[in-house]
Amino acid sequence: MKLFTLGPVEMFPHTLETASKPIPYFRTPEFSSVVLESEKLLKAFAKAQDDAKTVFLTASGTAAMEATVINCFDRRDKLLVIDGGSFGHRFTQICDIHEIPYDSIKLTYPTPLTREALYRYDKGGYTALLVNLDETSTGQLYDIGLLSEFCRRNNMLLVVDAISAFLADPIDMENSCIDVLIFSSQKSLALGPGLSVIMLSPKIYDERIKDSKPKTMYFDFNSYIDNGKRGQTPFTPAVRVIYELHDMLKHIEAAGGVEQRIAHIAKVAADFRERIKTMGLSLPPYNLSNAVTPLYFPDGNAKAVYERLKEDYDVYVTPNGGELADSVLRVGHLGNHTVEDNVMLVELMKKVMS
Ligand SMILES: *Cc1c(COP(=O)(O)O)cnc(C)c1O
Repeated sequence: MKLFTLGPVEMFPHTLETASKPIPYFRTPEFSSVVLESEKLLKAFAKAQDDAKTVFLTASGTAAMEATVINCFDRRDKLLVIDGGSFGHRFTQICDIHEIPYDSIKLTYPTPLTREALYRYDKGGYTALLVNLDETSTGQLYDIGLLSEFCRRNNMLLVVDAISAFLADPIDMENSCIDVLIFSSQKSLALGPGLSVIMLSPKIYDERIKDSKPKTMYFDFNSYIDNGKRGQTPFTPAVRVIYELHDMLKHIEAAGGVEQRIAHIAKVAADFRERIKTMGLSLPPYNLSNAVTPLYFPDGNAKAVYERLKEDYDVYVTPNGGELADSVLRVGHLGNHTVEDNVMLVELMKKVMS
């Protein structure tokens, strides 16, 4: 089996080995030090402030998105959401459920987010911007510089779902004035599912979290932050995934750090995009994340190609849902991928398409 999916993704042998070990008891100083060391490395990789706060939530990415909204915002806010695909749309659904006022910038595939489209909302009285840095459903990588500048001049908080972009595309939490950064274990970290991390800037912690009492027990950030001081979580965490995380972060550090890791994914993604140039497929006109290549199939055989690769070769690419099901396939570059894997995949795609 080979996964070119977007979560879970193709894992590394060292992760599988870590995952095969027995799960130890976790209310111990040993486990605490694994958590604290992981937090330190994650903050370094995200270029977060030293006093940024970290929440280790045992839940998938959507829960981290929802928890962020519950902890940071209420009915007195007015949010701006980039709704550029199914994950951006999810933020609007979360705001609807929790009755938090928002406007959304709706982008239908394959429309890029332009400066003009964004600045129509300038001076609109918004309190925060919610964005999925890589809108994984379309592969559009938004311009963090543009978004950051917009938020600064409008005095808005900036919430970034980097669930697929973290470790795949450059992120600098402090420099880009990101107030909340969200990512999950099963995407570019290439671990098992079940763990999400929420990083909070000192600014949003002081303004929105410290003194708040959200109506939720499991998702109350303050209890995670309090327990986190000693490397613990309020409830049973995904212990195994935290060991996988620690192992992965140490590997990334030993191999040259986050820049090296991003450079590798960028190289693999660029190589794939070069190789498919002669296949009659097209790429969308916007800036792409290194995490994923969305391929447009003019003959409407995207779903059929996905099925053949799966059934005949045990190779998984990522199908799209809804209206794009027959016209778009996504090839994920997250996880254990090399140029040789691209060679293999492109050969198989050519075979099944002929
Ligand atoms: C995968 C993903 C999510 C949510 O993922 P779940 O873990 O399935 O809840 C949210 N946002 C983005 C950008 C994603 O790629």
